[in-house]
Amino acid sequence: MMKDCIFCKIALGEIHTEFLYEDEYVVAFNDIHPVKPVHVLVIPKNHIAEFIAVEDTTLYQHLFTAVKKIIGEKELQTKGYRIIVNGGGAQDVDHLHVHVMGPVSPSNHE
Ligand code: AMP
Ligand code: ZN
Repeated sequence: MMKDCIFCKIALGEIHTEFLYEDEYVVAFNDIHPVKPVHVLVIPKNHIAEFIAVEDTTLYQHLFTAVKKIIGEKELQTKGYRIIVNGGGAQDVDHLHVHVMGPVSPSNHE
């Protein structure tokens, strides 16, 4: 738990948020400002500042398992999906999060 970290508070249930997926490592929830009809964030439960700070590579399995389940549940397999991780100063929230978005069309890659 990192003080004043909004995603730590979400992961710990201090800010009530519906989880679309949860396991022992990660939770997934809707982005508050969706840029696509589906816009889900997958985050580690533990505070990890950003992608390059991951040390336990088991976390990759849990993150990608969650991403795959979201794609399936949202039926994006054939509608187009986009997976994004911002870091190195490109991120607004300093707690690792994977954006899962869709539907996405080819040549709509802004
Ligand atoms: P990034 O620019 O990659 O750090 O993205 C941060 C994302 O977190 C943005 O898409 C925000 O809309 C989203 N966000 C910020 N606060 C919340 C919140 N309380 N619940 C859900 N999503 C949030
Ligand atoms: Zn945090």
